[in-house]
Amino acid sequence: MRTTERHRSEHIGWLRAAVLGANDGLISTASLVLGVAASGTSRSSVLIAGVAGLVAGSMSMAAGEYVSVSSQSDTERADLAMERRELAADREGEEAELAAIYVERGVDAALALQVSKQLMATDALAAHARDELGFSASTQARPLQAAMASAVSFACGAVAPVLLSAVVPHEYTSRAVTVCSIAFLAVLGAVAARVGGASMTRGALRVVLWGSLAMGVSTIVGRLFGAAL
Ligand SMILES: [Zn+2]
Repeated sequence: MRTTERHRSEHIGWLRAAVLGANDGLISTASLVLGVAASGTSRSSVLIAGVAGLVAGSMSMAAGEYVSVSSQSDTERADLAMERRELAADREGEEAELAAIYVERGVDAALALQVSKQLMATDALAAHARDELGFSASTQARPLQAAMASAVSFACGAVAPVLLSAVVPHEYTSRAVTVCSIAFLAVLGAVAARVGGASMTRGALRVVLWGSLAMGVSTIVGRLFGAAL
């Protein structure tokens, strides 16, 4: 049934990351815009804060993702190099090691050794990378691609509150940003839940709750600072 069965986990990775990035961008930039607006500043100050938040957040997401994925791929490369050395130094030991892994998974000892030898005859390093280290094609890390994807998804979420604060009359900015952000968050939360095969209502509620909390706290802090300064 390989062709009809839809494996969620294969698609979840990037789509989940994209939705989470957009969530981040929306919550943090909407909160920033609301906080600055609550302090009673001009429209241009609110807009500048929103644009700066969009750019800073996107760059920070890209940097964080690049560093994290790069260090993961450094680790994978070091593991592969060690495996390559071991294969060159002790071929028989490595055959036995791979066979032991299959025995642990329930294969007969004799058959396990046969499988191990045959797989290693084709591509010994690939066999060890897959079955000993647990690497697969999908875990192959691409740092620059991951960094770009994070930045773009953050910016997609962040652009909504920035556009609203540019277009909506200043006195309605806070209301418009709050209402639209909650609506967008509900949609993003529902989409993320749907992709993951979970309840859409619960997914939407969870994101809306945290988003409202972030926007509420930012508004209160902005108002307090605006009154004090
Ligand atoms: Zn090995």
